Amino acid sequence: MNGKRYGQPSPSAREGRRAAAREAEKHGSKSTPAVALRPSVGYQHAEAFCLMWYACECGHRERIWNSRDGVTPLGFVCPSCKEPKLRHVNWALDQYAPDHVPAIGQRVWINLTRDRAMEIASRTVDQVAKGKVPVGTDLQRIADAVFNEGMAPDLVVYGYVEAS
Ligand SMILES: [Zn+2]
Repeated sequence: MNGKRYGQPSPSAREGRRAAAREAEKHGSKSTPAVALRPSVGYQHAEAFCLMWYACECGHRERIWNSRDGVTPLGFVCPSCKEPKLRHVNWALDQYAPDHVPAIGQRVWINLTRDRAMEIASRTVDQVAKGKVPVGTDLQRIADAVFNEGMAPDLVVYGYVEAS
């Protein structure tokens, strides 16, 4: 793990948001809520910079922040029961929060780093192919596929280092 805890919104994304806000002002739309829900313009992904609820049937529930304009999985492994049953729920409660500062211990979606992609590629080869890279490919190419040009999501606990 490096020192950077989560990705920063890119300047272009921020610009897009400001432009959208200016546009809304110009048209004098009084109905615009103070906290916008899932902005439809300026982003490639509907869940960009959203706070989202995730819940598991075991009772685990948490709110995770998407720190970037990138995809987030609908479901994954629950940290309480270890079953792959933690799901994005209550979509209507998704809150667009580009300036959100995570609480200590809150989990945050970030872009996967190339180093982490390599780690995952190695582990996958170990588990699936008993450590032998399949013929016709190499570890770098597998890592590239995992990395997906920096758009693959990763999940980190915010403030873990600072809190310890
Ligand atoms: Zn669970």
